[in-house]
Amino acid sequence: MTPYRQITVVSGKGGTGKTSVVASFAALGPEKILADTDVDAANLHLMLHPQINRREQFYGAKIAVRDESLCTRCGECERHCRFEAITVEAVNPFACEGCGFCTLVCPRTALHMEPALTGDLFISQTRYGPMAHAKLVPGAESSGRLVTMVRQAAEDLAMQNGTDLVLIDGPPGIGCTATAALADVDLALIVTEPTPSGIHDMRRVIGTAAHFGIPTALIVNKADLNLDRARQAESVAREMGAGIVGRLPYDETVTRAVAAATPLVEFDPDGPVSQSLRECWSRTLALIGMSV
Ligand code: SF4
Ligand code: SF4
Repeated sequence: MTPYRQITVVSGKGGTGKTSVVASFAALGPEKILADTDVDAANLHLMLHPQINRREQFYGAKIAVRDESLCTRCGECERHCRFEAITVEAVNPFACEGCGFCTLVCPRTALHMEPALTGDLFISQTRYGPMAHAKLVPGAESSGRLVTMVRQAAEDLAMQNGTDLVLIDGPPGIGCTATAALADVDLALIVTEPTPSGIHDMRRVIGTAAHFGIPTALIVNKADLNLDRARQAESVAREMGAGIVGRLPYDETVTRAVAAATPLVEFDPDGPVSQSLRECWSRTLALIGMSV
């Protein structure tokens, strides 16, 4: 067992308010390390204003690279690439599947494979604690490996700082980035909305987490927009073995807090959503044997 606890906040799809919830939890005690693993739509930094201390380039899968000085423009590579990723003029790094076939057919050995620059990994400091996060280069695809690197950086920070808690903003859905963000955490906290698609997505996330033996708990965001659906989400979650952490009411102040790039518990500390967020955070911590 690690000397720190890890919570990943996830949602079935984007736009459920997950990152707003994480930003407010970040601003509440206890001391913690933060990680944004939603690398496709990283926006936790917009709320937490990190000062970057370290930056590392991240290289992903290999792609074809051409030595122009050797190329005779014979077109063999273009004829053989079934992904239409290469022409006599250029390699399209976003279309290249890294199969390496073109390097075999090139009569001039003008092509070789190289890892593609996928993005940057950052180690930063925020007012709320150290943070690991990443930024993809435009057009690059996220990967479970990048998520794992962000998590590893956060875990290293926890070890170096002797911090007991790592709070992870996870990617939406159940793809490979989401499963990389869930692996080995102590709790997957699911934020969902009270809609049929929200309940459907929540089921899939609970199922995925259960597959990895990760305990789950539920927060229903904007619960009062449809209390029947909120209750239905909670009863489905309970049946599937998830804990119920609480409900957050709908409040337009949340949108204003996002626009002001400030965690809601600081923007509107006495408002109804902030009060619910504090209760939800206390219950979440209790589920992993911690307290505020
Ligand atoms: S490595 Fe494969 S996908 Fe990429 S350009 Fe060459 S043949 Fe096409
Ligand atoms: S096969 Fe080789 S030499 Fe021919 S166009 Fe492609 S890179 Fe150039």
